[in-house]
Amino acid sequence: MNISRRQFIKASAAAATAAAIGVSVPKRSYAEGDVDKWVKGACRFCGTGCGVYVGVKDGKVVSIKGNPKAKTNFGFLCVKGFLAYKVMNHPDRLKYPMIRQADGKFKRASWDEALDYVASKFKYFHEKYGKDAVAYYGSGQCLTEESYTFNKLWKGGFGSNMVEGNPRLCMASAVGGYITTFGSDEPVGSYADIEQANCIFLVGSNTSECHPIIFRRIMRRKLDNPGVKIIVCEPRKTNTAKIADLWLPVDPGTDLAVFHSMAREIIKNNWVDKAFIDKNTRVTDGKNTYSFEKYAEFVEQFDPESVEKLTRCPAENIRKAAEWFATSGASMTLWTMGLNQRTRGVWANNLIHNLHLITGNICKPGADSFSLTGQPNACGGVRETGTLCHLLPGTKPVTNDKWRAHVEKEWGIAPGTIDPKPGFHTMKMFDSLGGEDDPNKPIKAMLTSTTNPAQSLPNLNKYVKGMKDAFLVVIDIFPTRTTQLADVVLPAAFIYEKGGVFGCSERRSQLTEKCVEPPFEAKPDIWIAAQIAKRMGLEKLIPWNMDDSMKANEMAWTEYTRVTKDTDHTLYGATYDRLKREPAGIQWPCPSVDHPGTYKRYVRGMDPMFDHKGFLAKFGKQIPSDAKVYFYMDSKNEGKANIWLRPYKEAAEVPDAQYPFYLTTGRVIEQWHTGTMTMRIPEIARAHPNGYVEIHPADASKYNIVTGDMVLVESKRGKSVLPAVVTKTSMPGILFVPWHDQAFDRMINFVCNDAVDPGSKEPEFKIAAVRIQRVSGPVKIEDKVVITDINSAYS
Ligand code: SF4
Repeated sequence: MNISRRQFIKASAAAATAAAIGVSVPKRSYAEGDVDKWVKGACRFCGTGCGVYVGVKDGKVVSIKGNPKAKTNFGFLCVKGFLAYKVMNHPDRLKYPMIRQADGKFKRASWDEALDYVASKFKYFHEKYGKDAVAYYGSGQCLTEESYTFNKLWKGGFGSNMVEGNPRLCMASAVGGYITTFGSDEPVGSYADIEQANCIFLVGSNTSECHPIIFRRIMRRKLDNPGVKIIVCEPRKTNTAKIADLWLPVDPGTDLAVFHSMAREIIKNNWVDKAFIDKNTRVTDGKNTYSFEKYAEFVEQFDPESVEKLTRCPAENIRKAAEWFATSGASMTLWTMGLNQRTRGVWANNLIHNLHLITGNICKPGADSFSLTGQPNACGGVRETGTLCHLLPGTKPVTNDKWRAHVEKEWGIAPGTIDPKPGFHTMKMFDSLGGEDDPNKPIKAMLTSTTNPAQSLPNLNKYVKGMKDAFLVVIDIFPTRTTQLADVVLPAAFIYEKGGVFGCSERRSQLTEKCVEPPFEAKPDIWIAAQIAKRMGLEKLIPWNMDDSMKANEMAWTEYTRVTKDTDHTLYGATYDRLKREPAGIQWPCPSVDHPGTYKRYVRGMDPMFDHKGFLAKFGKQIPSDAKVYFYMDSKNEGKANIWLRPYKEAAEVPDAQYPFYLTTGRVIEQWHTGTMTMRIPEIARAHPNGYVEIHPADASKYNIVTGDMVLVESKRGKSVLPAVVTKTSMPGILFVPWHDQAFDRMINFVCNDAVDPGSKEPEFKIAAVRIQRVSGPVKIEDKVVITDINSAYS
């Protein structure tokens, strides 16, 4: 198979179109070769959570095809999903534990040597610098059972909340938005709303490339029902924006004003749902509550003409978007990083929820305010298990005395073991990481798994030294930019080599069964966690210390769902046996084994929490018997959602005379995150071999740049040199760079801003002020770059 990017996109479009018109694509399109067995599982990559069948032949995974019964993808997959097996059989897989020696080179070690060494160093740092001197940095790509286990080891074993994960970098603002508006994290509805929506509003999401199977569903809805309106709000005219009925172009970070302006138009035209507003909402600024009239007065300042001047979004487009959204009868918004990776990410989320609340576009079929998550298990693994510095399992804060006491009891540890003070959020954690000779760096060691912070953190120049100087343990399947800074590298098993649960964007948990043995000496994370626990005297806390990863995972899952059984996120009814049987997984809340799972929350008759005695008693809830919609996680216990008065604020950094361009970054359809896996799949690597900078022709001509020229992109923090692609995709004044390239000079995260949202602590990846300079004409650059030599330098 040898396809170009163009051929691939055409093939994907053809598959989507075939699906939309009801033509079935033969299974052979998604699989190759005969197999000994097909094993049910979930895709390893994005947060869509596509169901797959994994084909095994002679003890190797040789093929992947879509699961036609999966309610996420109905049998369809994108290129990443169906070629994922090529990652597993790649010769670059890490094969043995490795320990860095005094000469700076790695040496192969036995598992006992490596684990004894890691445990002894962790003990040393704990004794010398205190319980918070050793941090865990996990991932939305770890299994739920793995995240739960590491979280338990740190918080219940070490008494430390120095626990974070890369979902802080992508979804924390969505979490903040859901909690501040509805009182509880994660969407109200489900993907199934797409097929019932009459207006679909895509904001800060290049859905066609980043969530291609969701995009397929949107396209199918539109093709089957041409009257359905699609609105896209984005600084770039992406493939997603190209199919829209209406594009709302905006300068990065200015969309807050557009959302307020839409609300103003909705109120002015009396398109509000007054009955819903009166019964189910309150207006607040976080300190006081106000009348709805006060909200109407507040948004009055955002008239479309003024907003057009501020944002570059045409006033007529704002008016039209407001009308379509408010009058469709069922409007659904979907968003992802464009809304979240901002210093005002929580506010942006709140303002989208505002539009849904004032029009009553929530809690009914086809109407939802839906955050698409980036990673396959950011929701299930990190958000729901509370594997972040401020949370406990069940997404309750560590500061909650009652919940801490509950978790301590469930974990069988002494009262007071769990620290009531949150640990450091991701950027502070990395800023606090350093060597023993640096008294300003209190974190001396870190264990990181299934993520690549030495390429994925923003403003990398600030954080590399800390990772290099500290004692860094990396669990991964390939050498990466982060293993280049590590002291110990532990080879990990791939999901299909261990099995376990992923929970996707729509509250759906799906079990992947183990398909094959891990190669060489690679091990599941849960085994590594249990072995470290044993060596640190905490074997009783992590009793699932065994070679059988499915058994260990089941024990961890069973305990996790018991600990959280009375929360609004309950998965108590989703036993391992049941998850093995269910073809499409289960959506929480699912309180009992006979419960089918929940399509829509907060609606009587659909949401089981209305009648869940354990939940109501434990959290002191009383739901009036006549309430049809009730936001029961409202902290004031009035069952209301918050309509927020949020002032307009621009990004932390905006263009000026010295740095006259906006830079925004993102993904392309073929590549996943830092490319460590997808860049090793030959078909994908060939289709999209390197990073580049997109420049509008008007800007390119000012700088004498043509496609292929090498261009320096520089911010106050760092620089990158990339080939130019001159295109009208981005508006003038806006540059775009995809961030998957591992080539040092093209790692764009050196340039990105690490300023964080004050509420969510999520950094502003999406917006930086930069300048550009033509460096040369086209040159031959090294492409398809991957780190293959474990002893190579970070340069
Ligand atoms: S859309 Fe996402 S979950 Fe589905 S196959 Fe592609 S990468 Fe996997």
